[in-house]
Amino acid sequence: MYEGVNASEGIGIGTVAVAVEPDLTFTPHVVEDAAAEKARFKAALEVFCEKTEAQAEHMKTSVGEAEAEIMSGHVTLAQDPELTGAIEASIDGGTCAEQALVETSTMFENMFLSMDDEVFRLRAADIADIRTGILAELLGREVVDLSVLPAGTIIVVHDLTPSMTATIDKANVAGIVTETGGRTSHSAIIARALEIPAVLSVSNACGALHNGMTAIVDGSKGVVIGEPDEETLADYTERAEQFAAEKRALEAFRGKPSVTADGIAKVLACNIGSPDDVNGALDHDAEAIGLFRSEFLFMDAKELPSEEEQFEAYRKVAVALKGAPVIIRTLDVGGDKEIPYMNLQKEENPFMGYRAIRYCLDNPDEYKVQLRALLRASAFGDIKIMVPLVTCVEEIRAVKKLVEECKAELREEGRTFNDNIQVGIMMETAAAANIPDLLAKESAFFSIGTNDLTGYTMASDRGNDRVAYLYSWYYPAVLRAIKNIIEAGVRAGIMVGMCGEAAADPLLTPLLIAWGMEEFSTSAPSILRTRKAISQWTKAEADELAAKVLELSTAEEVKALLEANAR
Ligand code: PEP
Ligand code: MG
Repeated sequence: MYEGVNASEGIGIGTVAVAVEPDLTFTPHVVEDAAAEKARFKAALEVFCEKTEAQAEHMKTSVGEAEAEIMSGHVTLAQDPELTGAIEASIDGGTCAEQALVETSTMFENMFLSMDDEVFRLRAADIADIRTGILAELLGREVVDLSVLPAGTIIVVHDLTPSMTATIDKANVAGIVTETGGRTSHSAIIARALEIPAVLSVSNACGALHNGMTAIVDGSKGVVIGEPDEETLADYTERAEQFAAEKRALEAFRGKPSVTADGIAKVLACNIGSPDDVNGALDHDAEAIGLFRSEFLFMDAKELPSEEEQFEAYRKVAVALKGAPVIIRTLDVGGDKEIPYMNLQKEENPFMGYRAIRYCLDNPDEYKVQLRALLRASAFGDIKIMVPLVTCVEEIRAVKKLVEECKAELREEGRTFNDNIQVGIMMETAAAANIPDLLAKESAFFSIGTNDLTGYTMASDRGNDRVAYLYSWYYPAVLRAIKNIIEAGVRAGIMVGMCGEAAADPLLTPLLIAWGMEEFSTSAPSILRTRKAISQWTKAEADELAAKVLELSTAEEVKALLEANAR
């Protein structure tokens, strides 16, 4: 059994095909005719760009627009004058095209790799992919073609590059295993979009798994099993069937209202990170956007996005939702979310430090750019502003004051916006969980961020393996915090939702129903499953279970009771 990163859920069973990368070795030589060599390079670049554009076109229909853009991005990057200029200068100095390409692109790749920001490190992978493509053209060799695989193939490859993925015929691929890449790598994003089970970063996968071998890819757990024995194979075959059957059964919930068994209406919303994610959200039947993590717009840029750029992004989402609510969280920088060009000082304890709303209120001119963009976009749909990491009433009041200032400016400029735009709070700190009644008086809605609320309540950093046992929302301390927040919000008559991962945990669904939570905001693939979980409980049944849970003292007891009552 091999362990890796669980990058795309589901279980794939099939026959291994190790995708061997083409032999791209060459003998470097000195060139006499630099002009001819440059022409040879340009011709190879042109063919590479044409093929890549064609792959992007194919991907638009086979995978999705956003993923196709990754391929189109390769063309732009390959034609970047800084890169091509440096290669041509090297050829002018007598280096052959292959060597000039390898040396120059490696220099760019290393530059991107040395950067702290994940976005730039992803660009290093793109550069490597481009190098392979152009080098293959120069040498007249074919790169791996995954379009002609037999049905039931488990692709095993060192790195699944976007160009390889472009050719994948989804119907024939049962699973993907790679030796590199994390959950946010392009291969992971594409595997999830294709809904192919994938386990990434399995060390020495290409050596350990051979062509023709039977293998199991458990993309939910992040486990790969080579040559399973009969018992294991039968067990996983059953699990794969269950997974597929569950997915098929969930289709029955598409287009249906989100209601409890006794007809109490709930809202099933989706969490997104960019306007491109909206299609996925709508495809999975989202009724609203419960969390747009706006910091991704900032992470994907090289400098602070302008008011115009932000406005366009927010407007796009508002328009796509056709009047349904869109909660946009203002910049949640710091903690685990670094934005290099903002040059925030390294801190001893970043999760307790200068981050999120603390940074924004300390830099009101920057913050107002975002608030103005949000207000302007509110003319195009039901945008709501959400403030992250609130710990006290002073913060929400300060934000509302800035919102009023921005409104006055926009009015003066004759711009339209929703004067009644709602400003709500992301309830994710222990402090907020202790004063929900006070915060509810100042807030149009609450959305519970259990990812942070769990960490802050239990004083447990989820990145730290040694205290990971404490990072669980089944602890009574976390459950009581959630209950306090929901009940205070309900008493005050404001909407209460949850956008942390716990919203998609079916074991918690009855508790959230019992306490009166209205909106469940999950990742796109969890929407139908959560709608189903909601439909399985009446309020009375949920109340009964919640009362029993509140009498328990330990996380273990809570989880055991919830599991025993799971539906
Ligand atoms: C949360 O904290 O629960 C949340 C949804 O926000 P993030 O994961 O972006 O911190
Ligand atoms: Mg958070």
